[in-house]
Order: sequence, then structure tokens, then C-alpha cells
Amino acid sequence: MFVYADNAATTSVSKAALDAMMPYLTELYGNPSSLYAFAQKATEAVANARKTVAELINAEPREIYFTSGGSEADNQAIVSAALAGKRKGKMHLISTKFEHHAVLHSLNRLQKDGFEVTLLDVHEDGVVRLEDVEAAIREDTALVTIMFANNEIGTVQPITEIGALCRSKGIPFHTDAVQAAGHMPIDVKAMNIDMLSMSGHKFHAPKGVGVLYAKRNMPLFNIIEGGAQERGKRAGTENVAGIVALAAALKESCENMEPNAAKMIAMRDKLFAELSKIPHSKINGSLEHHVPGTVNMCFEGIEGESLLLMLDSYGICASSGSACTSGSLDPSHVLLSLGLPHEVAHGSLRLSIGEYNNMDEIDHIIETVPKVVQYLRNMSPVWDELEKGERPHLI
Ligand SMILES: *Cc1c(COP(=O)(O)O)cnc(C)c1O
Repeated sequence: MFVYADNAATTSVSKAALDAMMPYLTELYGNPSSLYAFAQKATEAVANARKTVAELINAEPREIYFTSGGSEADNQAIVSAALAGKRKGKMHLISTKFEHHAVLHSLNRLQKDGFEVTLLDVHEDGVVRLEDVEAAIREDTALVTIMFANNEIGTVQPITEIGALCRSKGIPFHTDAVQAAGHMPIDVKAMNIDMLSMSGHKFHAPKGVGVLYAKRNMPLFNIIEGGAQERGKRAGTENVAGIVALAAALKESCENMEPNAAKMIAMRDKLFAELSKIPHSKINGSLEHHVPGTVNMCFEGIEGESLLLMLDSYGICASSGSACTSGSLDPSHVLLSLGLPHEVAHGSLRLSIGEYNNMDEIDHIIETVPKVVQYLRNMSPVWDELEKGERPHLI
């Protein structure tokens, strides 16, 4: 049996998205910047997609900028707020320890350029505390950027409250909503969000297209210079087919959000219930504030990488954390931010369920994971020492 359980890394393109984009790859291939009527079909398609996306998050169409993905949207939001702050002598940026690398590495670069960065703790449950945000805010804070939902452990942050706090202090608030878009309701007005990032391939649009929402009065600086596309804020010929697909996929995901979530939660909760029967295992992240599809657990005495390779041989596609860190031997920065010891963080497994999964697949995972964990433990010198009491169990 083949089971794709890595939907937080990427998703398949839905039929709705593929059908919507196809004409713009075949007959209607004009460049939206051209003036003849043939190209205007593409211009109109982009305008309609912008309107659709805006409506789905309660924004205005002119507040939607299409990008090459979530990473670019994160980069542009953060650099823009930082440069705008710098002009007013504000050189302090606030974020969290468990952001995606698109955010953390952007902040890193700004730090090298003289900005001061405060990275908030996310506590054992993977949830940022409003008091911590408030305590970190200074006179010279130029931006607060806190992710909507974490990509490795699935915890959801108190976005509305953080947004209200930032609004009351006049500080721009950006959220990386790549893992939330299409899975949880987003209302940028009600949630006091000034800037927000999304990525099409996390909700069944193709890879290479994303959205930056920026509230009307937010100053934006270009990451890509060139033509006047996207109201002069993002140069480059529009990825027309990708943009059309993104709007169609987001619409479909939002329209089916409740039944999809119910289905995914049932699968996720079964995984949690069954896999936590494995001795010396641990669920990572609060279950109270959680996206529907993500399961993250640690199993003591094993290496996450070996677990993934074994699961692959049983047809199961999973992850030990974010795709960006696999291949490196460091444990996930997200799991370390929860205060997990290195030894424990190394034995992690992320299963991210989508609406296309079914209970038979979940049962295959539930049958396989305990078997594989046991097999790896039997071969593990560390597990041997744990069992003989030569070192203490940490979980
Ligand atoms: C996938 C992801 C990104 C990056 O999006 P791309 O479109 O792949 O660049 C950023 N943030 C989070 C939370 C993600 O899960």
C-alpha cells in the first residue's frame, strides 16, 4: 500500500485547480502585459483570481500580491517592514524560535545588517504567549512576525490576540499562514493582520505560486525588480496558470473546509491514540490548538531518519520535521524550541494527513510504525542502555 502522509511538505494538484489552469497553459497563453484582446483574457484571469483570493481572506483585491511561493512572500513582508522601520529609526524585530526558515533566515540577514531580533519562546506546548509578545515590544519595534500554524508540529497561535495587541501599539504584524490557508478560516480584518503569506502547493495548487497579502497602507519594497507587474511591487511576467490554479484550489479548500477538517481530525486523532501506545513515545505540541492534519511524535532510542527510510520501504511517505532540514544531522529547531533534549528530538516523526487520505491508509500506518520502531530499537545501542537502566529514560 502507498500512503502519502506528508501533506505539510506539499500536496497533489486537485482536479479543480488543474481544470482551471489548463486553458492558460494551452489556448490562452498571452502575456497579461500585452494590449491585444487575446492577452487580455490572461489579464482578466489574474484579476479574477486576485478577487477570489481577496474575498476568501476578507481583504481587498489590491491588497493581494502574487509571488513565487511562501518563501518569497515571507521575505518580502519581513524586509519591507524592516526597511520601513529603519527609515523611522526602528530597528527591532520580534518573532519566534520555531518559525519556518524563510522567516528565520530573513531575520538573520537583517540582524547582520544591524537590526536587533527577539525570538520568543514557544513553551513546551508550542504556543506563543500573548504576555511574552507584549513584554518584548519596544519603542523601536518595527515588526512582529509570528506564524499562524507551525509546519512541523501543527500548533496554532493566538493570531487575533497578537494582531490586536500589535494594532493597539501601531506595530505592523505579519503572519506566515502557509500551513493554515485552506485549512482554517482566515479573516485578515477580524484578525488584525497587516501582512500574511500563503503558498499554493500546500493546498492543492501547483508549486511555485504564492500570495503576499499586505494591508493597503503597508509600505512594500521589491525583492524582484523589473517590470511593473503586481502594481510595481513584484516584477516578472505573471505565472498566470499558477495564479488561476491557486485561486481555484483555495476556493475549493475553503468551501469544503468543515467536512475536510472533520475527516482529517478523525484520522489524526486515531493516529495519536494508537501511536501513543508505543512505550516511551511523546506527542509534540498542544492538541488543544492544532491544525486538523498534523501529527508529530518522538520515539525514544531511535533515529528519525532511519524510521523514515524504513517507513518508505512500507510505502509510507512521512517526514522527521521540515523538508528543508532533512539531510542535515541537526535535530529540528522546532522540536528543540519546545525544550526537548537533542536525543529525544532526533527520534521524531511527522505525519501530515490530507483530505485525500482514508482510514485504510491510517490503519496501515498504525500497523507499521510500532513494528518499525520496535525493530529499530532492537538494533539500537542507545535503546539497549536505556533498557538496562544504564541511562535514564527521558520520555
Ligand atoms: C512550505 C512553507 C513555506 C515555504 O513555502 P514555499 O511556497 O515552499 O516557498 C513557508 N512557511 C511555512 C510554514 C511552510 O510550511
